[in-house]
This record gives sequence, structure tokens and C-alpha cells, in this order.
Amino acid sequence: MLVEPVPSTPVNDDEIERLYALIRVPSVSADPAHADDMDRAAGMLAEEINRAGGRPEVRATSGHPLVVGEVPASSADPDAPRVMIYGHYDVQPPGDLDRWDSPPFEPTVRDGALYARGTSDDKGNLFMLLVAVQRQASRRRQPLHGEEESGGTSAVEAIADESESTSACIIFDI
Ligand SMILES: [Zn+2]
Repeated sequence: MLVEPVPSTPVNDDEIERLYALIRVPSVSADPAHADDMDRAAGMLAEEINRAGGRPEVRATSGHPLVVGEVPASSADPDAPRVMIYGHYDVQPPGDLDRWDSPPFEPTVRDGALYARGTSDDKGNLFMLLVAVQRQASRRRQPLHGEEESGGTSAVEAIADESESTSACIIFDI
């Protein structure tokens, strides 16, 4: 079996706080006034790749920064399959603030669901995948070489560049 099942553990307080911190960054790619926020969110994702034991790189592009990181398989087997994870850290503008039940960049739980701009597209999805890699790596059960890409349209080119050496790609985006 490629991936041994491990008992699932709920997201912990530290993971929640790190996700909330990422969501609080108004990384609105369409608004040049948020360029610093784009850089800040990119740096936070680089830190998450670090936590997984990976080597992150924040690449300048003609658009927004592209965060790339490789996490080695725990076995260090060079022939272990490579799986690429893709997600994006930029969000759409919040639009009319009167239409929000809670501030767009303040994570708020209502009826068991988390609300804030970018939570489901794509920060929460991407963060969950990063936490899964971190947990596998910390148990030394990371069975795959992971390659993580995060950015906007510049990521598409980077994915195409890496596609020949990759066994699978997980894109958890809407
Ligand atoms: Zn998306």
C-alpha cells in the first residue's frame, strides 16, 4: 500500500491559528494596493512548506510571486513517486461590504462553517493539503516526493514545466 492509513486527528489550535492568519491577509491580486499583502501571503505559505521539511522558494514572476517547494519522501528513495499540489493564495476583492454578515477578512464560524474571503477558494483547501503533508512528514510517513506550487496564472507554466517528472497533481480549487 502506497499510503498507510493513519487515524485522523482534528485540526489543532495551532493549525487553526495559522489558517486564520493567512485568511486575515487581504491578498487581493487584482488590486495593486495589495501587492504587499500578496508578498506577505506568499511568505506565509513558504513558512508552511518549511514546516513540512521542504525547501520553499518564492519566485518573482511577471505577475505575483510564485511559491514553490519540494518536500522529500521520508524514505529518501529517489524513485518514490512525485505528487504535485497546486493551490492559490490570492483572493477576489470583497465587493460590497454591506453584503457581508461578518468582515470579509476576519475568519468567523457560523453554524459550523468558516466564513471569510478566500476561505474555500482557495486558502482553506490549500492549507489543508499543506497540513496533511506536514503531518505525514512529522510522522516520517511521507510516502511521496511532494512538489507544491502556489500562485496565480504563472503557476500554470510552472506546472507544465514539471509535468514530465510528476506522477500526479492535486488541484483543490474552485
Ligand atoms: Zn480558485
